[in-house]
Amino acid sequence: MFAPDVLFYDPTALYIDMLNAPAMAAEFAWRYACFELNLFIGWAEDQGRPDVAQLWKHHHLQDCDDPRLH
Ligand SMILES: [Zn+2]
Repeated sequence: MFAPDVLFYDPTALYIDMLNAPAMAAEFAWRYACFELNLFIGWAEDQGRPDVAQLWKHHHLQDCDDPRLH
């Protein structure tokens, strides 16, 4: 099967939409190390989705060992 020459969707936008799920953020955000979460937050903000960044940060901070890192 050949890959299409033109994408008809933005895979990054679909991926970040998938991550905009409170239940998923609550389940996984605390599992990330602080530096990993900061990378994710920076990526989400760079993609124009500060809402997703804040969602994951909110859930991470509930169990974060060092909130000063954020
Ligand atoms: Zn943290």
